[in-house]
Amino acid sequence: MKLICIGRNYAAHIAELENDKPSDPVIFLKPDTAVLPKNRPFFIPDFSNDVHHEVEILVKINRVGKYIDKKFAHKYYEEIGLGIDFTARDLQNQLKTKGLPWEKAKAFDGAAVIGDWIAVNTIKNVDNINFSLQKNDIVVQQSNTSLMLWKIDELIAYVSKYFTLKIGDIIFTGTPSGVGKVEVNDKLKGFIEQNEMFSITVK
Ligand code: ZN
Repeated sequence: MKLICIGRNYAAHIAELENDKPSDPVIFLKPDTAVLPKNRPFFIPDFSNDVHHEVEILVKINRVGKYIDKKFAHKYYEEIGLGIDFTARDLQNQLKTKGLPWEKAKAFDGAAVIGDWIAVNTIKNVDNINFSLQKNDIVVQQSNTSLMLWKIDELIAYVSKYFTLKIGDIIFTGTPSGVGKVEVNDKLKGFIEQNEMFSITVK
C-alpha cells in the first residue's frame, strides 16, 4: 500500500508558504510505515523543532488502474476520508533550499494520520465537501474541496499516468491554508462537515 500525496493544491496555502503556483500537481510518496497506528498518540520526532499539521481529504483507491481517464476516475474510489500530512517544516525548508527530496520531512514514522472513512454514495458532491481541523477545540484549518486547484478525479487521472494505482492506496489531496506547529499535549480533531473523523494527541 502506498500513500500518494499532493502538494500545493489550494491557492491560499501556496501563498502562506510563499511558493510559486505550480503548472502541474506536486507529488510525493509516503511509505506504509508512515501511517500512525489507530488510537496512538503522535510523537514529535527528535529531528525537528517545527512539525506542522496539514489536514487533507483522503481518497481510498478500490481498483487497480493505470492511465485512468478523468471521466472514469470516479469508478476507482468508494470512500473519502480525512487525515493529516505531518510535516517537519524546518527540515523540509532545509531540503527545499538544497533542491533535495522531501522524504525525511514528510515520510517519517507516524507522519500520516488516516481517520475514518465515509461512503461516497452518501456524499452529494465530492467537489463540495467542507472539512476542518481543530487544535485544542479551536478551528485552525477549514476549507472546501471546491477550492482545490486539481479536483479529486483530475488528481486520479494525473497520478495514474506515473504510478499504477492499487487497491488500498490512499491519495492525500493537499492541505488548505492554516498549517501550523504542533506542541506536546495538543489535541487534534478532524471533521468532514459535522462528523468527527479522527482525534489524536501530540506527545
Ligand atoms: Zn500535505
